[in-house]
Amino acid sequence: MDVAKIEEGFRKVLEGLGLDIRDPALRESARLTAQAWHDELAAGLRLPPPAMKLFPVEEGQSRGLVALQDIPVKSICAHHLLPFVGVATVGYVPEASLCGISNLSRVVDHCARRLQVQEALTDEIVRTLQRVLRPRGVGVVIQATHFCMHLRGVNHPGQMITSALKGCLQDDDALRREFMALAPGAAGR
Ligand SMILES: [Zn+2]
Repeated sequence: MDVAKIEEGFRKVLEGLGLDIRDPALRESARLTAQAWHDELAAGLRLPPPAMKLFPVEEGQSRGLVALQDIPVKSICAHHLLPFVGVATVGYVPEASLCGISNLSRVVDHCARRLQVQEALTDEIVRTLQRVLRPRGVGVVIQATHFCMHLRGVNHPGQMITSALKGCLQDDDALRREFMALAPGAAGR
């Protein structure tokens, strides 16, 4: 990632807006903004995916649904470069492996920390968990507010809900209902 180039770009944005970048309030803006994009907003583009800690399912151990709610989603809309923020509910039904529950949060955060489209983000989290956990089923529901909707366009907030279900969480009615009931805004889908 080229921080100098990002900084140069933000300087051009400010100049394009007709602002004087020698103004004390703006002098550091391009540098600080570039640093924020490098360090945090687009960190998922430069950091390796989080290493997931897996545990074998022991003999006799339950193989029911494992889910985590209220996972913060902080991402940047790929179309307008404005944030979208919300929560994810992630669940899986294990086959041979379980993972540390915080790993689910880390995968969401890694996939979100870049330019994203909410539908693609939802799919990417599902694909990552399928690849690493090889579960019987996996599901992700994201509910998020898009600032590109809030600040421009229709100019109101609104919650966008996306879901992606695979394996038994897609095919088994009872499991699907059990999982979807956990996701804010998605019950009854
Ligand atoms: Zn947008």
